[in-house]
Amino acid sequence: MAPSPPGAPLGLYLHVPFCAHVCPYCDFNTYAGQEALIPAYVAALEREIGRRGAASGGRAAETIFFGGGTPSLLPAAEIGRLVRACRAAFAVAPDAEVSLEANPNSVNEAYFHDLLDAGINRLSLGVQTQQRRGLRTLGRNHEAADAAAAFAAARAAGFGNVSLDLIFGWPGQTPAAWAADLDAVLAWGVDGPEHLSLYSLIVEPGTPMADAVTRGILAVPDDDATADLYEAAMARLERAGYVHYEVANWAKTDALRSRHNLVYWRNGDYAGLGAGAHGHDGVGESGRRKDGESPGVLPDSPTPLLPDPVVGRRTMQHLLPKSFIAAVARGEAPVSNVEEIGARTAMGETMMLGLRLLREGVADAAFLARHGRSLDDVFGPTIADLAGLGLVERMPDRVRLTRRGLMLANDVCARFV
Ligand code: SF4
Repeated sequence: MAPSPPGAPLGLYLHVPFCAHVCPYCDFNTYAGQEALIPAYVAALEREIGRRGAASGGRAAETIFFGGGTPSLLPAAEIGRLVRACRAAFAVAPDAEVSLEANPNSVNEAYFHDLLDAGINRLSLGVQTQQRRGLRTLGRNHEAADAAAAFAAARAAGFGNVSLDLIFGWPGQTPAAWAADLDAVLAWGVDGPEHLSLYSLIVEPGTPMADAVTRGILAVPDDDATADLYEAAMARLERAGYVHYEVANWAKTDALRSRHNLVYWRNGDYAGLGAGAHGHDGVGESGRRKDGESPGVLPDSPTPLLPDPVVGRRTMQHLLPKSFIAAVARGEAPVSNVEEIGARTAMGETMMLGLRLLREGVADAAFLARHGRSLDDVFGPTIADLAGLGLVERMPDRVRLTRRGLMLANDVCARFV
């Protein structure tokens, strides 16, 4: 239920900042040609997990997520070592979701088998597209057959929870090519993947792809064409029986939703561990303002109140793997940035994130329990305005996006921050 209650279990995010090569559209914190750092990096990450767990008092955690970068570049034994470190440092639930992102060309059945032994119980495969032209345009260094083989290998090894990442809106993609991608992956295995994440290509400034677009070498589809691809995917996955539970995510059942990402969308707390990883935590146990403190300047407040009390904190660890390793070796916290989150910002972020959950939305009771203010008290006029435009639905116990609001989700969510 969005938002998370105060003090809910953490998500643990472990960043692996290494890739075999850097794709031209990528702006993640990842580095090619630095694989020699992996042993020292894993040792530093293990130590940092211990430090953070101790600082949190061994706080409860319900998910572990290995993201990157390409976590599947790490030997399975090193993954197992890091999972054990998490379980030793935090009170990780016995049934925790433990996910790992894998690239199709760095895996095989034996490796997946070893990952299961290491404690991984959910895979996220970076398929992106099954079109050769798309793979080359996106600068992926795998072939379509590699992705199909990776999925088959995961199944053969015993993984029953596999998510696929696909990208739409890449330069030159046609509706027919997108339909072919969806048809192809839905036919994998006996009845397709458990989960799908479909991302609209964002051409990030500063990437080689942005340069190519600026110079007219590549042309990305316009917003209408991208919206058509998104609507086609919604229809196709609905026919295939998937639950569209978040703007970009579909699952076969509610139990197969990404529990780790639900922590983010419910504006919960998470520990970001590793180079460039972001963390988020409430200040104190409850994350609520103390009695007598002002709620701050609130959107739509007729009378702005100051100051805005700090109710949370966002942290970022050193970006460069070498800097991260060196800081840990010196016994320092490898943190490069700490940002305080005020009550007003926290409430806005609850809306911005929670509205992405299509059925769940943001619940009145959960909002009150988390922030100590009622949803209507804080955002009543904004909600009424958006409901009048047909972009959100004001239900008796929650607010959520309408179908029309879904197509404008970023703009609607931005109204709250
Ligand atoms: S594999 Fe993923 S993380 Fe690595 S460079 Fe490509 S898009 Fe970025």
